[in-house]
Amino acid sequence: MGEIITRFPPSPTGHLHLGGARTALFNWLFAKHHKGKFILRFEDTDRERSKQEYVDSILEALKWLGLNWDEGPYFQTQRLDLYKKFAQRLYEEGKAYYCECSKELLEEKKKEMLKMGLKPKYDKTCRDKNLGPGEGRVLRIKAPETGEIVVEDLLRGKIVFPAEELDDFIIMRSDGTPTYQFAVVIDDITMGITHVIRGDDHISNTPKQLIIYQALGAKPPKFAHIPMVLGPDGARLSKRHGAKSILEYREAGYLPKALINYLARLGWGYGNQEYFTVEELIEKFTLENINLSAARFDPDKLLAFNAYWIRNTDNKEVLEHLKYFLKAYDLSKFSEDYLLSAIETVKTRSKTLVEMAEMMQFYLVEEVIYEEKGAKKFLVFDIVPILERVVEDLKELPLEEKKLEEYFRNLSEETGIKLKNIAQAIRVALTGKTVSPGLFEIIKVLGKERVIERIKKAIKYIKNLK
Ligand code: GLU
Repeated sequence: MGEIITRFPPSPTGHLHLGGARTALFNWLFAKHHKGKFILRFEDTDRERSKQEYVDSILEALKWLGLNWDEGPYFQTQRLDLYKKFAQRLYEEGKAYYCECSKELLEEKKKEMLKMGLKPKYDKTCRDKNLGPGEGRVLRIKAPETGEIVVEDLLRGKIVFPAEELDDFIIMRSDGTPTYQFAVVIDDITMGITHVIRGDDHISNTPKQLIIYQALGAKPPKFAHIPMVLGPDGARLSKRHGAKSILEYREAGYLPKALINYLARLGWGYGNQEYFTVEELIEKFTLENINLSAARFDPDKLLAFNAYWIRNTDNKEVLEHLKYFLKAYDLSKFSEDYLLSAIETVKTRSKTLVEMAEMMQFYLVEEVIYEEKGAKKFLVFDIVPILERVVEDLKELPLEEKKLEEYFRNLSEETGIKLKNIAQAIRVALTGKTVSPGLFEIIKVLGKERVIERIKKAIKYIKNLK
């Protein structure tokens, strides 16, 4: 087998969503697995609906996911001369012809055919008129009139389309721009695409594209049509199901590797394994393991994947992604070690990086702000002598979790104040909240100086209440 070349050809008419990202991922994985090439091109010939904003956001989403491309991005609007050249060739060889039927006339004929219960088709009025190019004329392909067009799908086997079902469809519009069918084929030929992996909503396009390959005498690529992604209710996935655009998942605190893992599992599997690193996916990805039944998107499962990958990713890597959510803080004030050990205390409790950033807040502020309820309940006058003692004792105490635990237990026994009340008062003093990672872990990370300073501040706060 020669070099494998795949492509991802989004139309920049919207943001990148889960379905598109999965198509991109499968093409990327397939190319990587075979040490081939992955090409990015924008199908932007629909000038009305294509927007630069979407080009930018698709590029950003692909970069964030780590789906780097080896060639491109190409833009179809910059390749119009190429399509014209191929169209001219087909015309000169008598494999395509100009058609002057007006839209209105075609519309009328279509209605009539529908009325008679027929599938609307172009009736070949201009096929033998030998018309040249001219104002308002489109170029149509001369499709075979008999026989069948066979799509050899890598996943589904042969899909047969009788020639009568197809018609002489348009390849160049009257304004000189190519139709989707034509531009795709010319691109796939000139870019040397060997494998087209795309959604099965394109199956009906494939016989048309094969007709163009045949007319050009070009060898078609191999096709694999993958099942659509559905929502939990079985309808085609849409916003209604709570599915966000890829960049919205970044905003919501997902790790790209979690999204990649989840997307790969949407319709592809490898035994019972659920969790895959990107490297493992590259190693194991083959088309044979694509599932032919449609995959259902499950937001809870995606969230669980994210939590798993937050827990199981090196703290340094987590920090790189977390920084995006910590822009409000001057992180240069802290050592990397401090930040990494802070992450260690929250990583098993965070399902998203947003939650994690929120939970980390107290490590990064100069002064904690007390939650009203917690302060009222735990920062009370009776606790002041205990806090004062802790400030003194801490100076001598080694910051080891076992030692700290022992110390606080003794303190509780000695003073008759419940351990829970002592711990909660200190927790509020250190974090501002009544819920946080383990107290001893926090003390260890914050270090003596910060802990003492924060407890002193709490003492002052209580005294001021009087
Ligand atoms: N631009 C098409 C789409 O967004 C790509 C179709 C193809 O893969 O050939 O669906």
